[in-house]
Amino acid sequence: MPNKLNRRQFVAAGAAVGVFARGPQVITRGVKPVVVAAGNGNRSKNSAGLTCVAKAFKMITEGSDVLDACIAGVNIVELDPEDTSVGYGGLPNADGVVQLDASVMHGPRKSGGSVACLEGVRTPSLVAKKIMDETDHVLLVGKDAQRFARLMGFTIEDDLNTPKSRDLYLEWKRRTDPEHYLNPKDRAELGYHVALEMVAEGKIDPDHFHGTINCNAVNSKGEICGTTTTSGLAWKIPGRVGDSPILGAGLYVDGEVGAAGSTGRGEANLLTLASFQIVESMRQGMHPKDAGMAALRRIKSQTISKRLLNRRGEPNFNVNYYIVNVKGEYAGVTMYNSNGMSSFAVCNEKGPENVKLEALLNGSAND
Ligand code: ASP
Repeated sequence: MPNKLNRRQFVAAGAAVGVFARGPQVITRGVKPVVVAAGNGNRSKNSAGLTCVAKAFKMITEGSDVLDACIAGVNIVELDPEDTSVGYGGLPNADGVVQLDASVMHGPRKSGGSVACLEGVRTPSLVAKKIMDETDHVLLVGKDAQRFARLMGFTIEDDLNTPKSRDLYLEWKRRTDPEHYLNPKDRAELGYHVALEMVAEGKIDPDHFHGTINCNAVNSKGEICGTTTTSGLAWKIPGRVGDSPILGAGLYVDGEVGAAGSTGRGEANLLTLASFQIVESMRQGMHPKDAGMAALRRIKSQTISKRLLNRRGEPNFNVNYYIVNVKGEYAGVTMYNSNGMSSFAVCNEKGPENVKLEALLNGSAND
């Protein structure tokens, strides 16, 4: 995963807006504040030059609510037309429609909200937050979620495709002539195969085929929150919902324990409720890294279907976790880090950095 922002560039950006120039205003009460996110949490930048993790860290150290800070961070990525895995410009489903999923969880409030199959709103994380704040419910989906968003004052757009996501969709469509599929299962398999081909040819950034951003943070008071937002699997069957909006799968936060969130094959997390499992493992005393590895081992042992196994008999997909506990300890783990380049984004009092994801298995998913 390429590092789009090195330390020197970050410090320059921070200095430009006076963020880290005089040092962050960290009030420690035993917990060192930290923000962790998927690798794209250190790529897209706002007009002040801040990435997702830098923005969220600045806000939590200035006293903002931790969830508001995480959401403000991921909004930068949701609004970036160049990130084809999240929000505006996210790759569309098999019918060319961008359908977005997102979730939020607030540790201190012991509350959460999520939205799935949402069309026309660039920032689904903010809609998930509204569902948490304004309703008695946790999850709204599809057209009714859009109607709710309209009522809440969100702008509804006809189409969230950008020229880039539309071009990639048309290329995929050309290669998967719909007359050649017999049923939705064959179509999904052909679609997946062609999409992998496009990744191998460098048309789609591998990190953005299974994309998404998850961002979790803890402040100096030990308050923990998190959010996950995505356009989901590229070219998915219309109506497919992944793990990102399902609490316990793509995100889980317990204010007394910690937070975990994921990117990668959502179906694996839906079948194991991996984020919930990670938080529960931390509750039993595991370090974030060990808890993440335990979830990866569970997925490995649960994956027995031949079409999901590579030649070594191991999962032929990747999945990643971003984890933080109430003590401010954190980890980023992955099933495979084949080229050793995949990283996750971290920001603490030293500024933002890209940290290598630790892998459970050697080799790569497709060997
Ligand atoms: N986990 C997300 C999903 O399955 C997307 C991804 O990270 O690929 O929808």
